Amino acid sequence: MKLIFLGPPGAGKGTQSESICRDFGIVQLSTGDILRANRKAGTELGQKAQKYMDAGELVPDQLIIDMIKEELKKPELSKGYILDGFPRTVNQAESLDKLLTEMGQKLDTVLVLEVPNEELLKRLTARRVCKICGKSYHLLYKKPQEDGICDPPCGGELYQRDDDKEGPILNRLKVYEAQTFPLIEYYDKKNMTSKINGLGEIGDIYSRIKSVLEKL
Ligand code: AMP
Repeated sequence: MKLIFLGPPGAGKGTQSESICRDFGIVQLSTGDILRANRKAGTELGQKAQKYMDAGELVPDQLIIDMIKEELKKPELSKGYILDGFPRTVNQAESLDKLLTEMGQKLDTVLVLEVPNEELLKRLTARRVCKICGKSYHLLYKKPQEDGICDPPCGGELYQRDDDKEGPILNRLKVYEAQTFPLIEYYDKKNMTSKINGLGEIGDIYSRIKSVLEKL
């Protein structure tokens, strides 16, 4: 199964991807996670991406497209994948179309997780992420077992991402509306979208997603 996951920052794509990957045996490919790992490792890509990420701006398309080209070749993706955070612009979507055609692959659907802006702001300011494994928590809705610590077996320290503070969040939501929202129309025209109501309990939202995926 090959999926794209679209939705604004804070919609719950990462959280829902975990359950999808567990139940459908596929791998999550998050461009944000890969970029953060590159920053931590101090790679050239990480250094180039840093200033854009801290401001809540998009990293230039070509850097992302080159990165995804390498990722999609990995053998662990042979059973399927869910792209989380990519594509983010129509230009990236067109490049992905070309790449998939070259690789003889076809997407099954584009999941679109819909959540209003007021709710996103509430969710993002309370998000905490593990420094080691990248798993995310919420101070109210998805608490760790122990305050500030990632659940076992990881045990890593939780922190607030610099771009989860109010200024960068508002910018990320603006960038989403301007650059990523047109993608929904792009995939609507191809009859490829499955829209999911992203409000409510994490488990209820997942049930909605699961019923769509089981019908594919
Ligand atoms: P995320 O974890 O998906 O919210 O991504 C965090 C940040 O990484 C974004 O605000 C962008 O700066 C950058 N980023 C992640 N994915 C992409 C992408 N597909 N295109 C451009 N920038 C990206």
